[in-house]
Amino acid sequence: MAEVKLTFPDGKEKNFPAGTKTIDVAKSISTSLGKNAVAGKLNGQLIDLMAPVSDGKIELITAKDDAGLKVLWNTASLVLGAALHDLFPAMTFGERGLTEHGFYYDTDNAAKPVSIDDLAAINDHLAKMIADKMAITRQVVKKGDALAEFKADPYKTSLLNALPEDAQVVLYRIGDYLDFGEQGVLPDTHLLKVTKLLSVAGAYWQGKSSNKMLQRVYGTAFFTQKQMDADDARRKEAHDRDHRVIGNQLDLFFVDPKVGAGLPYWMPKGATIRRTIERYIIDKEVAHGYQHVYTPVLMNLDTYKTSGHWEHYRDDMFPPMDMGDGEELELRPMNCPSHIQIYNHHIRSYRELPLRLAELGMMHRYEKSGALSGLQRVREMTLNDGHTFVMLDQIKDEFKKILNLMIEVYADFDISDYSFRLSYRDPNNTEKYFDDDDMWNRAQTMLKGAMDELGLKYTEAEGEAAFYGPKLDVQTKTALGNEETLSTIQLDFMLPERFDLKYVGRDGEEHRPVMIHRGLVSTMERFTAYLTEMYKGAFPTWLAPIQAVIIPVKNDLHGDYAREVKRRMAVNGLRVKIDDRNEKMGYKIREAQTQKIPYTLVIGDQEMGHASVSVRHYGEDKAITEDTNMYIDAMIAEVHNYSRT
Ligand code: ATP
Ligand code: ZN
Repeated sequence: MAEVKLTFPDGKEKNFPAGTKTIDVAKSISTSLGKNAVAGKLNGQLIDLMAPVSDGKIELITAKDDAGLKVLWNTASLVLGAALHDLFPAMTFGERGLTEHGFYYDTDNAAKPVSIDDLAAINDHLAKMIADKMAITRQVVKKGDALAEFKADPYKTSLLNALPEDAQVVLYRIGDYLDFGEQGVLPDTHLLKVTKLLSVAGAYWQGKSSNKMLQRVYGTAFFTQKQMDADDARRKEAHDRDHRVIGNQLDLFFVDPKVGAGLPYWMPKGATIRRTIERYIIDKEVAHGYQHVYTPVLMNLDTYKTSGHWEHYRDDMFPPMDMGDGEELELRPMNCPSHIQIYNHHIRSYRELPLRLAELGMMHRYEKSGALSGLQRVREMTLNDGHTFVMLDQIKDEFKKILNLMIEVYADFDISDYSFRLSYRDPNNTEKYFDDDDMWNRAQTMLKGAMDELGLKYTEAEGEAAFYGPKLDVQTKTALGNEETLSTIQLDFMLPERFDLKYVGRDGEEHRPVMIHRGLVSTMERFTAYLTEMYKGAFPTWLAPIQAVIIPVKNDLHGDYAREVKRRMAVNGLRVKIDDRNEKMGYKIREAQTQKIPYTLVIGDQEMGHASVSVRHYGEDKAITEDTNMYIDAMIAEVHNYSRT
């Protein structure tokens, strides 16, 4: 009789009769593994418990493995399909998949799209199916047979058509519901006891904004209630920290797809935070030898053809505007060609290098609508951009200077949770990049060398470089746990070539400079989103849009003194408001706390009599009485001393 030969993780080999299933392999090892296995991994691929094994390396997956959770989620998404099918018989289904924290299923119910209002009923029905311990059976068929089964369903047909002709499709059946998909599906529903649907959101079919919008139902599942409780707490924290939620609560900004997706409006308080960051950055950069400039957001398309943006970056650019007179204007996606114009406007000497140009440069990128997120990923953004033009032998020094400046700025904003990533071109896809192997090798080695000399830890990522050169990215995490790039330093030998940049050297001859692109704190949009999440909306006093609120105990008695205190603070540049609404004192104090205002000052008879204020710091229960002049001086000092470097 034919046999299959399996190799176990410890290197041991064992033969089994042909037709042996994953579950039988688990049982042959131990009774407990037979009970606890949820799937197998054969040569690295998930395989169902009820699937026959073939020759190869086998590993058994239990609830303790990360892959175990994926099996649970994959199964839950399938059962969700069955539950939805019961409740909405006319519904068709798009893609089904996993996220970092659970699973989803895209749905199309023409008569009445699924909404958040339906979640409770769907959850109930799902729970019932799970309690019934329904069997999930599997059957492997050819692609043609699968297509025949799903011929009435355009989405499923399209997904099946995308598979290779000789693909084996695994069909799964729960009651009268039929689906197909990746292996790693449990044989029945009993392990799904701790499952919960979370939300419904629009999602374009296959992520393309030109396609129909479907309703994506999100859920999650765990093996134990304790794990679910921990995830509930994580989700609550992520929600409370989410800059879109805080942005709304504190009235900082909004984005309204009706007037333009990804085009943010900064409300007065958000604008104050942004203006404070902008002033800080400009002052800092000027102090470090940068010259700030202003350049237009529109540029002749030909310039972007010369720069290579049109060739390599077109998908991310807004379409050009045909001006009707032969000229085409383009909204800039990057500021580099603009700063190159400034460099090239004069003949440059080696004495001027490194020449550091900077700008808070507004740019536009046509990001996919599904990727847009609050201020974190937008279509119109203002980058804290800078380009330094250096001689070859100045690269390393300048790179280190930029890095040190960046570290200094991070410290001023209390940012400590970040990591470095060196981004290289994808060696298997070099046509996406500027074609000069020698330049790439030189630049990549140079960056790595500088990082090693500085003794900084970093990871290396192939395929993350800009099309014109490798870069150092500074990676941080959003509240939702996604990694994002905040700062970046990029070496570029290409644009100086394309725009024929020169400087006159010590020898009187013309030479080619190298360009370093750098964004210290990213775009104003992404940085504000990041800070909002990091501070959870409780901005330090120097950044807070309203730094203090003054509450007179009685408007008629204490209003004049309150206004006098406010005036003295305001002339010193402090941002103060008086809350003289006809509300209870306790209410006003609580609101100042929910608005996360750093200082709440209460003024009554006592305070007026002693030229003092009763001060409550954000997050503290107790108020202390301070001499008004001393308090104002201390606050001025606090705001002006934010920079510790
Ligand atoms: P990402 O990988 O985040 O899309 P990128 O590599 O395209 O960014 P760069 O061209 O280096 O970005 O842009 C400089 C910086 O601008 C990025 O490091 C990032 O912090 C920020 N940024 C890029 N795209 C956006 C956007 N759509 N919205 C807000 N900020 C952005
Ligand atoms: Zn640039």
